[in-house]
Parts: sequence; C-alpha cells; structure tokens
Amino acid sequence: MCDNISIDYITENGDYDMNTKIYDISIIGGGPAGMFAAYFGRLRNLDVALIESLPKLGGQPETLYSQKHIYDIAALPKVSGSELTQQLLDQLQILNCDQYLGTSVSSINRKDDVWELSTNKETIYSKAIIIAIGNGAFKPRKLTFDYDKTLEENNLDYFVNSLEDFRGKDVLVAGGGDSAVDWSIDLDKITNHTSLIHRRNKYRAMESSVNKLNQSSVEQLNPYIIKNVDFNQADNSKIDVTLKMIKSDDVKTVTADKLLVNYGFVSDSKILRDWNLELNGPFIKVSQEMETNLPNVFAIGDVVTYPGKLQLIATAFAEGPIAITKALRNLYPDKDYFEHSTSIFEK
Ligand SMILES: Cc1cc2nc3c(=O)[nH]c(=O)nc-3n(C[C@H](O)[C@H](O)[C@H](O)COP(=O)(O)OP(=O)(O)OC[C@H]3O[C@@H](n4cnc5c(N)ncnc54)[C@H](O)[C@@H]3O)c2cc1C
Repeated sequence: MCDNISIDYITENGDYDMNTKIYDISIIGGGPAGMFAAYFGRLRNLDVALIESLPKLGGQPETLYSQKHIYDIAALPKVSGSELTQQLLDQLQILNCDQYLGTSVSSINRKDDVWELSTNKETIYSKAIIIAIGNGAFKPRKLTFDYDKTLEENNLDYFVNSLEDFRGKDVLVAGGGDSAVDWSIDLDKITNHTSLIHRRNKYRAMESSVNKLNQSSVEQLNPYIIKNVDFNQADNSKIDVTLKMIKSDDVKTVTADKLLVNYGFVSDSKILRDWNLELNGPFIKVSQEMETNLPNVFAIGDVVTYPGKLQLIATAFAEGPIAITKALRNLYPDKDYFEHSTSIFEK
C-alpha cells in the first residue's frame, strides 16, 4: 500500500531487491477509464502507476475530439473533451499517482506473484494490472512519403510538447481538423509566422474555431498537399516543404523552421493477442468484477466486452471502482474496502 512504498516484495531467489519498486496496481492506458481508476485506487490508498503511451493523458476525448461536447456524463451537463480531461487531471492532482507518460506497454509477464510490464522505457513491476487501453495505443498518422527521419529531431513534429519550441519561428501546420486549426490559432500568437496547409478549402473543425482562424493572421494554404520535406540547402536549420495544389500543376516550395503535422491518430489493439488474454474479437472478456482470465489482471473501458457493455465514458467510470475493489480484495483480503470517500478523506 502507499504508506510503505519502497519495497514490499522480495522473491526467494532475490530477483527483486530493495530498489525494485513494486506497485499494487499498474494501470495501462491514461484515457478516462484509466485516469479515474488511478484516482480511485489512490483513494483506497493503493500504490498506483498510470502508464500512457502518448505524452499526455486523456485518451479519446483529449486526442480525438477535444472540442466536441459530451452530454452524457453524470453531473456534467455539457463538457468538451479537453474540459473533461482537465477535470480528471484536477481530480488526480488531489491524490497523485506515479505517471509514466510516453510509455507504451508491449508485454506483460508474471514471475512468482509479480507482473512485469515491459515498455519502450523501463520495466514496471506490479502486483495487479488494470488494462484500460481503449482501442489500443494511439500513434500519429505520419507523412506517407519517405523523408529524412532526422528531420523529426528539430524540424518535423507530430505533437506539441511545449509551445515554447515554436516561439519566434516560421511554422507550417498541416491538417484540417480541430487540432490543426486550434494549434494554428495558438501558434499564431507566439510565432513569427504561421501557415496552415490543408487539402480542402473547408475544415473539419468547430465553426467557432474556424471563425477565430479566419480572424487571425494565420496564412491559409489550401487546397494543397505536401509532396516533400527536406533540409534547406543553404541553411540546414530550416526546412523546405514542397506543396502541390490539388487538381492543378501548381507546385511551390515554402521555407520554414518547423512543420507540425496534425493528420489525426491511428490506434491498434493487436498487441493484446500476445498477452494470453481471453478475447472476443478485439475485446477482452471480463467477469462482473472486471477480471480477465489472468490472475490479478483486470480490464475496463472500451477494451472490454461483457453482456450489456456500452462503450461510454459513464460506463468506463463505473468499471474502475469495481476493478480496484476486486484487486484490493485479492491483494489485501483483511482490509475493510467498503468505505465512502468522505470517511477516507476525513480519517
Ligand atoms: C468522436 C467520438 C465521440 C465520442 N463521444 C462520446 C460521448 O459523447 N459520450 C461518451 O460517453 N463517449 C463518447 N465517445 C466514446 C468515449 O470516448 C470512449 O468510450 C472512452 O474514451 C473510453 O475510454 P478508455 O479510457 O477506455 O479508452 P481511451 O479513451 O481510448 O484511452 C485509452 C488510452 O490508452 C492508451 N494506450 C493504449 N495502448 C497502450 C499501451 N500499450 N501502453 C500505454 N498506453 C496505451 C491510449 O494512448 C489512450 O490514451 C466518443 C468517441 C469518439 C471517437
């Protein structure tokens, strides 16, 4: 439990030493399901790791529809995807857990009673796991032509990690959805020059955002597609981006400091096939207590299936506490786990 975080497990052959941190619960996936489950786990005083493959938490509402409104979450009459994420972040802040961002879990293996989660970074050790990966790890849709991958070090981005990276620069943003439009508006305030490249004349973004875009000084380059990107010959801190007008032979090259590509995300849950989980198509079969077929491995949110399952945030929020409570019962059978939050906070 959280009050004795450092080490509470050493195998007979000493594989795990005093420096090995073993979490009570590791939650794979930082969407709404995983974020609320992490908070609920902390509320139950469990030592929780929250692991998210993207550099930021929020899952689908944050990544796919940050500006769209959601109307079917209890006590939140109208909330946008990004507002919901912010509320979940604020809640997590109250009882924070260890967050592993930009960390993608590739496999899970059990050794004695401890699960080892292999990631693209370090290995994470845990007594129980909650899988909350939605439709799988999101990856940005990248440029489809071949380009020098070293461009991704400084000049070509698929995420905005910090707006400061763009300050005072000449920036090209590519895409026509909410993210591309919103980033263009934000970048316009701090860059030397921002241009938005889109293959159509119409954007797939909120009307209010498009209005803001039209009032900003963002240069709109449409309908153009990107044909090539390479280092500028004379100054290799800059890039040359070749644009071709749709249904025309018009080709032009624009020189800039940075290109930010916002072509959306693709997700893939094929990884689950190698985790020895009982699946029904792409979904994990779970019991009424959110248990999978593997010991102390639970699953919640969009990735699960059971009779009557609804792929909604409201449902995902309910499944977290069920999984956490069952995990708590399994790990600490003597603990009183039927408590209300008030009694926990006021202790
Ligand atoms: C356009 C759209 C509109 C929607 N509107 C509504 C609505 O109005 N109301 C509603 O209730 N629902 C709505 N939904 C559905 C809702 O967004 C989902 O039900 C909800 O996001 C499920 O949450 P989740 O946490 O299970 O999964 P996700 O939100 O998909 O989050 C899963 C997270 O896990 C991460 N991940 C995946 N694999 C790994 C890995 N191997 N290692 C580490 N991290 C990993 C992903 O990057 C992602 O951040 C909508 C969905 C879409 C696409």
